[in-house]
Amino acid sequence: MSFHLYNTLTKRVDEFSPLHEGIVTMYNCGPTVYKSIHIGNYRSYVFADILRRKLEADGYEVRQIINLTDVGHMGTDFGRGEDKIEKAAREEHLTPYELSNKYTEQFFIDRKRLRLKDPLLYPRATEHIDEVIEMVDLLLKNGHAYNVNGTVYYDIASMPDYGKLSGNSVDELIAGSRVVVDPNKRHPLDFALWINDPKHVLQWQSPWGSGYPGWHMECSVMSAKYLTPAYASGTLDIEKFHTIDIHSGGEDNLFPHHECEIAQSEGATGKKFVNYWLHIKHLIVEGRKMSKSEGNFYTVQDLVDKGISPRAIRYSLMSTNYRQLMNFTFDTLKSAEKNVSTLNGLVGMLDAVITARPNVPSDSGLEDAVAAQRAGFNSALDDNMNMSRALSYAFELRRMALEHARSGSLSAEGAATIKGALYAMNSIFDILDDPAPANGGYDEEIASLVALRDQARKDKVYDEADRLRHALEERGFTVQDTKEGTKIHRKQ
Ligand SMILES: [Zn+2]
Repeated sequence: MSFHLYNTLTKRVDEFSPLHEGIVTMYNCGPTVYKSIHIGNYRSYVFADILRRKLEADGYEVRQIINLTDVGHMGTDFGRGEDKIEKAAREEHLTPYELSNKYTEQFFIDRKRLRLKDPLLYPRATEHIDEVIEMVDLLLKNGHAYNVNGTVYYDIASMPDYGKLSGNSVDELIAGSRVVVDPNKRHPLDFALWINDPKHVLQWQSPWGSGYPGWHMECSVMSAKYLTPAYASGTLDIEKFHTIDIHSGGEDNLFPHHECEIAQSEGATGKKFVNYWLHIKHLIVEGRKMSKSEGNFYTVQDLVDKGISPRAIRYSLMSTNYRQLMNFTFDTLKSAEKNVSTLNGLVGMLDAVITARPNVPSDSGLEDAVAAQRAGFNSALDDNMNMSRALSYAFELRRMALEHARSGSLSAEGAATIKGALYAMNSIFDILDDPAPANGGYDEEIASLVALRDQARKDKVYDEADRLRHALEERGFTVQDTKEGTKIHRKQ
């Protein structure tokens, strides 16, 4: 089965086919680094990470870019408002650079905790001002923009299909937006590409006087620069620009941000900007919209402070399909914690079988059954990234392992086959422990007897647990049952 994704641009599930064979170019809109990023945003980044790993498992080279917005993201969409970075910097008594560095660092820490792979690059808006000026200049020259007293606006009337991504007519978009009347603009939805504001702390020289870039510009510029050869010669060469395969973001990015990116990039290059637009639905917490005033606004650090493991957070965020509204609750976190530990327990049990139960005749049907689970897992992801269904195949592997172990037909070879399938799935989900370097200081046989016994007790197979206790005692250990599992000591 081929890979299918829901494409916001075509409003249907499309078969995925990249522009260049074997390579996928992917741009994920990154955070505005003016505060700690909440778990709702991380839902988008976990999705992008899973998507990348899935494409890599399918044999693609994935070129992924995630930007960092450190200037120009205004508090209101169509009024002038205030730059979020500058407002927060003033409140924290930091310079804009100090502020964005502080939250960028936090973003990187959280990404590591959530096991999100690094993209090729995290480009920053403030480091691409020359490229922004060049593209704005091009938009002015080809009639898509106009300059009013040093502020350059995009002229949406020059782009007849403006609104094609959000699927709304311009009238509907106006009705749905908080549009502030601005006498300088020709149309209420015209948006700023370059902003003249003498009060702004960060300023750069441009052909239109000093100013700073509008938020949407950075994504048009940086996606072209790092995912296409358009800037290979140092300046923008629209002949070399090509369509980018995937562009993703939270659904709040859809309008106006992504709609404006399309207008800019297609206005500048005359070519289709992106083939597949993916939008990740919102997350609510305990059934309510997440907000500081509701007291249900959580960052990764807040959850870690409550004793929740980052892996349980990762598991929770990927277990609801990205096209569905997600209700993030402490109950789901608790069950995520349990599921993560169950799958890790399965690894311990399989390892124990691999080392302690050689020469048991294996069930001849096992290999085919495991292959069927792997195929099911892959086809669930092929089906528009159905992550909850994909995860169920990992638990199906566990059910098979336990069934075969109990009937005595799980050989070392069979256990290794199941373990291989589980780790193939984990290359995408990444929730299993890194293999422990030493078996608690005991040799492999002893360590595996302990792991087997823990599993038997967990599964309430007490005669098996007793058999393993005797096996350990015969090898010179006293055995103690604790809340953390079997503890052993060498007999004096
Ligand atoms: Zn963006």
